[in-house]
Amino acid sequence: MHDDRYEALTPELLPERLGALDALTSRVGSAEGWQVEEVGDGNLNLVFIVRGQGAAVVVKQALPYVRLVGDSWPLPLTRAFFEHEALVRQAARDPGRVPEVLHFDRTQALIVMEFLSPHVILRGKLIAGERVEGVAEALGRFCARTAFYGSDLSMNAENKKADATLFLDNVALCDITEQLVFTDPYCKAERNHHTPELAPIVASLRADEAVRDAAQFMLIRFTAGPETLCHGDLHTGSIMCTDTETRVIDPEFGFYGPMGFDLGMLLANFLMAYFSQPAHRDSPDEMQDWLLSVVMETCATFENEFARLWTEERTGILFPARLGHGEAALRRLMAHIWNDAMGFCGCEMHRRCLSLAHNADFETISDTGLRARLEARNLEMGRQLLVARGQVPDASALVALAHEYN
Ligand code: ADP
Ligand code: MG
Ligand code: MG
Ligand code: MG
Repeated sequence: MHDDRYEALTPELLPERLGALDALTSRVGSAEGWQVEEVGDGNLNLVFIVRGQGAAVVVKQALPYVRLVGDSWPLPLTRAFFEHEALVRQAARDPGRVPEVLHFDRTQALIVMEFLSPHVILRGKLIAGERVEGVAEALGRFCARTAFYGSDLSMNAENKKADATLFLDNVALCDITEQLVFTDPYCKAERNHHTPELAPIVASLRADEAVRDAAQFMLIRFTAGPETLCHGDLHTGSIMCTDTETRVIDPEFGFYGPMGFDLGMLLANFLMAYFSQPAHRDSPDEMQDWLLSVVMETCATFENEFARLWTEERTGILFPARLGHGEAALRRLMAHIWNDAMGFCGCEMHRRCLSLAHNADFETISDTGLRARLEARNLEMGRQLLVARGQVPDASALVALAHEYN
């Protein structure tokens, strides 16, 4: 780097600015031979692929504002710091699941990491009707391991409190979730938009006090339930896959929150892929069945892996061995996690049709009448998850509900 001031990179600037970095040159050779391409398709940051000598690395850099909106919406560069801190912890807790970090520069808000290839974003694969072998097992395990190892079930209390304090400063990214996920969907907000034909159901949702209330209670869980280090943004756009391999990226929203948060957000994204399928193919049944099997498998793997860790690796202050807790305590804990997951799942299903950031599963449906009909099923199921999640005690009940609303 030339100096200590932050400067946003461009493909043209990058070789000059990063040409002396060992993390790059050792993999892609000297800067004269680099080909640089900006590929960021996310809402927030710059992502460059740097190619050379038959290899490639990714350079991700935060901008001082929200990429999707522009410099009218400032966003602190510290999110790169939190993304890096989260990547390091996730790599230790579920080895091989996140891209390897090769270099971090706090001033430039920049992470050099492993280039995932030929991986593509999972959401695109699901829209295209492509299956990924092992996706449910990989993600169920990732959610279980990160939930467990970041919590008071595993960590030493002093370290856990210090870490929760560190991540407490990821204020701006939490603020996005607090506004866009839990609040904006349930009122008229400037940044909201929805498919025009949805107007009646949007009005009825916003008039429903039980829904608004339930979402606020989920917000309490979000802000006041620092159980573990969550990924914070685990949607199908934060997952990259081949036909047989699954990796998790983009944990810049990392925060200490409920153990069921990531699982609930992820399940919502599988369910939105499910509801949107009829618009993407003439015979959606097989893909829809597969998506529900992914929901079942993700939950089963989460439960099994979490139970295994609870039984074999409990070293924190919670449920100490000397209190002699057994299966019943584990079941109550799992029910607590599941109940949260269902509430977060409902909020995510709502915000992706009502708030600022929509998802391609629905957004790419050009026939707005059809889009609204499919989004309505998703919104109604989300409402049920928020107000009556006690009636959805397990994954089978969740899948039954998806069938009911489809
Ligand atoms: P944002 O925080 O802006 O959403 P992401 O981390 O999600 O940025 O990255 C945006 C896009 O860049 C991803 O959708 C993916 O296509 C690509 N990308 C990000 N990280 C990698 C990686 N390690 N390997 C390959 N492609 C990546
Ligand atoms: Mg992203
Ligand atoms: Mg991101
Ligand atoms: Mg939309």
